[in-house]
Amino acid sequence: MHRGLCYSFLLSLSSALLIHDQDRQGPSQFLHSEICGTNAPSAALKDAHQRFSSSLQRVMTESPESLPTIEIETWFHVVSTSDQVNLVTNEMIASQYVYLQRAYANASISYNFMGVDRSINDTWARNGDDREMKRALRRGTYNSLNIYFQTDLQVSESTSNVNSRHTKHRIDGIISSRDSQSSPNLLGFCSLPDPKINSSSSFDDYITDGCNILAATMPGGSISHYNSGGTAIHEVGHWHGLLHTFQGESCASTNEGDYIADTPQQSVATEGCPAIKDSCPNLPGLDAIHNFMDYSSDDCYQSFTNDQAARMRNMWSSMREGK
Ligand SMILES: [Zn+2]
Repeated sequence: MHRGLCYSFLLSLSSALLIHDQDRQGPSQFLHSEICGTNAPSAALKDAHQRFSSSLQRVMTESPESLPTIEIETWFHVVSTSDQVNLVTNEMIASQYVYLQRAYANASISYNFMGVDRSINDTWARNGDDREMKRALRRGTYNSLNIYFQTDLQVSESTSNVNSRHTKHRIDGIISSRDSQSSPNLLGFCSLPDPKINSSSSFDDYITDGCNILAATMPGGSISHYNSGGTAIHEVGHWHGLLHTFQGESCASTNEGDYIADTPQQSVATEGCPAIKDSCPNLPGLDAIHNFMDYSSDDCYQSFTNDQAARMRNMWSSMREGK
């Protein structure tokens, strides 16, 4: 199936759903403090960025959409608590996929939709057992994209290491006053490419690879300003190796930022959708508030830059293709 996958075919796929129903537990709390919990990049990944940002590696940036299409086998997994079984509709799944296709078109990256399954599992829905959930649901190999849409995604034991490495959050301004002691919910997180994975790596080596997305961020979801599907677009950008436009959070010349030449240096993550923002006023360019790799609200998101598109293609070739 190719990028032109029709809407009705996707709906027919999603109506033939595989249901897992295990380990039911009581409903977990749903809080409203959301973050992108993607890990900080490893030294090896930073080295790769450094290498790709050299002039020789940037020759393809002029017009990435004219390049051969990269086709990526893609599976969606909807994981619900028993109380939220009906939260994710087939229309939301289809709209999320359509947005995914459109957002990456300028990079000539296409997501070959392989199918969707649904699970009812209160532990998995709050990401209480990331590894076991993915052991049961993950499909394909290291070059396959698996996205888990979880109704109660939150920081848990299995993701606490992720949270502790991330201090800046994608926040919509709604903070729970009811239980500030509890772990916050996440908007999502995704695995950055791991340079250590090679063609002989085993499934166990990359079992947790993929994207975990709070289901309420899907198009038509319940989180105001963050319910157009932008979170999945942002997180899949991490899966392709992209870093935040505000990486390093400093205007200093020593801050290597996102290693992308055509995103201006930015020291502060964007909240909401300001008319204009310039967190490094003494450096060229305004903050790229419409870029998918900032923390702006969904209504602010518009595009990836040409250099980001080229970087994703370079990362694909070196990190995931054929693995
Ligand atoms: Zn992020």
